[in-house]
Amino acid sequence: MTPAVETYATLAEAARAMASGDGVYLAGGTLLMRAVNAGEVPRRIIRTTDRTLREIAPVGDAVRIGAGVTMVELLQNRELAFLHAAARQVGGPQIRAMGTVGGNLFAPHPYGDLAVALLALGARVVMAGQAGARPLADLLRDRARTGLVAAIECPRPRDARSFGFLKVSRVHPRGASVVSIGAHLPREGGRIRGARIAFGAMGAAPLQASAAERALEGQALDAAAIARAGAVAAQGIDPPSDSLASSWYRREVSGVHLRRLLESMERG
Ligand SMILES: Cc1cc2nc3c(=O)[nH]c(=O)nc-3n(C[C@H](O)[C@H](O)[C@H](O)COP(=O)(O)OP(=O)(O)OC[C@H]3O[C@@H](n4cnc5c(N)ncnc54)[C@H](O)[C@@H]3O)c2cc1C
Repeated sequence: MTPAVETYATLAEAARAMASGDGVYLAGGTLLMRAVNAGEVPRRIIRTTDRTLREIAPVGDAVRIGAGVTMVELLQNRELAFLHAAARQVGGPQIRAMGTVGGNLFAPHPYGDLAVALLALGARVVMAGQAGARPLADLLRDRARTGLVAAIECPRPRDARSFGFLKVSRVHPRGASVVSIGAHLPREGGRIRGARIAFGAMGAAPLQASAAERALEGQALDAAAIARAGAVAAQGIDPPSDSLASSWYRREVSGVHLRRLLESMERG
């Protein structure tokens, strides 16, 4: 079967076309076209040339990133330097040239490295045709038939020291994640206020490590707090097994890698 490819001038028209439910949205196509080539052919492929999808603009203390911004475009933007460590880890050069921020939110396990950083920073998602923005965490909990993402609004970390990202893979530099970790630990008077820790490859989609967040909240980022966070890192999380690592292995090493990331943030 050959899919019908429909190209719309505006996001609103593309969103309306998606509403019928039998179309699949095409962004950079790094995952979608791979699936099509492997025989998973949808009836309709929907795309848009709307330029607003490629815009990057400040919104108060946050930055609004169009869903169609590619990893390379993100890496070329100095205002988004806090996301560069994560974007650099998404695949090889061809994947980063085509793969988009919006597509990364929908990438299946073990992908979604940028989404991990965005989740840790408390990003919100703007849906096409809907007013306001909703937490990225909500979208990641249920990604099926969610609609069309127009943009992501990501708060900037107050300072470079308060945010860290680490990806652990077996193949360097382009391997998929055994685990990836984003940690946002803003500090007031030396105490962590609003700790957010996100894991990638530890579930079907990126998720928050709530027990580690609780262990860090209100604490100084010192050796004792780091050890406590590492010890509970995988609490309440049931990671998948795949060809890269078993569920048991991910549970065992996630705390070790979280500790290493937090230690590097403690050193500054
Ligand atoms: C060889 C290889 C290596 C890879 N390595 C990595 C890696 O290391 N880390 C990583 O995170 N990912 C990796 N990926 C996965 C993928 O390339 C990236 O996650 C990329 O960001 C996906 O974006 P895309 O624009 O290509 O998505 P597409 O393939 O265009 O779309 C993927 C899915 O997202 C949906 N979608 C896309 N945009 C939107 C939107 N705005 N609103 C609603 N739905 C949308 C599509 O309908 C589709 O279901 C890899 C992929 C390949 C093939």
